[in-house]
Amino acid sequence: MSELLIKNIGSVFTGDIQDPIVEGPVSVLVKDGRIASITKGDCGGAEKVIDASLMTLAPGLIDSHTHPVFGDFTPRQNMIGFIDSSLHGGVTSMISAGEVHLPGRPKDPKSAKALALLAKRCFENARPSGVKVHAGALILEKGLKEDDFRELSEDGVSLVGEIGLGSVKTASEAKEMVVWAKKYGMKVLMHVGGTSIPGSSTVTCEDVLEANPTVACHLNGGPTCIPPKEAFKVVEKSDCAIELVHCGNMLAAFEIGKFLKETKRLSRLILGNDAPSGTGVIPLGIWRMVTFVSGMCGVSAETAICLATGNTKKVFGLDEGMVKKGASADLQLIDAPMGSEGKNAKEAIEKGDIPGIGMVMIEGAVKAQISRNTPPPARKPIF
Ligand SMILES: [Zn+2]
Repeated sequence: MSELLIKNIGSVFTGDIQDPIVEGPVSVLVKDGRIASITKGDCGGAEKVIDASLMTLAPGLIDSHTHPVFGDFTPRQNMIGFIDSSLHGGVTSMISAGEVHLPGRPKDPKSAKALALLAKRCFENARPSGVKVHAGALILEKGLKEDDFRELSEDGVSLVGEIGLGSVKTASEAKEMVVWAKKYGMKVLMHVGGTSIPGSSTVTCEDVLEANPTVACHLNGGPTCIPPKEAFKVVEKSDCAIELVHCGNMLAAFEIGKFLKETKRLSRLILGNDAPSGTGVIPLGIWRMVTFVSGMCGVSAETAICLATGNTKKVFGLDEGMVKKGASADLQLIDAPMGSEGKNAKEAIEKGDIPGIGMVMIEGAVKAQISRNTPPPARKPIF
């Protein structure tokens, strides 16, 4: 059994929107990659000890909207290493919204099924830099039958990529497939807003209400948004999870974020990058969204981080995403960045600063120490 103690933690962002912060000093014991205990003060020793130097412990971020293909390569921007760069932005899990950037992606139902299964299996076998990529998101193509959804679900495929990316373009065509997908336990994503790249399509508020997906993706546009008034209708007339993304319209993100806060619906909100995409690869995108929602929409730091951790965990039924007993130890140590007006991570985030990352851990294994991408943290952990 491997044991690791993280002691001298200043405070813990739990990722649980019902109970988002534990004031320290706190010690967290990790056994075999899982959180065994969270104790106020000191809790003895362990095989291995990390002194957090009063930094803040938070769950690793979950990017709710990525477009990977295979491994750590994205043909959309001709780049390798984008997942490793995101790890240095505190991202320990990613959810695929469709492996749509595969060069020459075939559009027939058989190939769409094969691609979803292949992507899922490949990312199970190869985790770039340790990051959990939940991939294999079926793109809806004309001709898919109920049996196809059953078969894929039996093989473990649990995602339907953004409706609007494939040849099934209208809500009336998609509706029946959404019912089949949900019947077999799959989570269904739907593009909302203007056409993103050549070959995809525009999706309106009425389309979302008719198709009834699990997640209304990038309600702030990907990158072109529907008018905020229509976006509010999606929130009010459906029970979909609502997603805001970095590669969207930031004015709309501001309006929607404020609306969700004011109407006490932040528990429905999740945050994604929508990258790699035409906009690029954004390693700090999820932290930028957390600080945006916190600083601009007036949401506490400990609540804002739930939108990229515990909320996403709940929508997709993931093992990771919270600092609580029994959870996978996918964690990060953060602090105010050097030179920030804030004295700790909470104050810095609420002033709109991206925190400095001092460590990223996945299943109890340290994957990065001082981030090469964030500004340096004011304090540093002692390993
Ligand atoms: Zn999209």
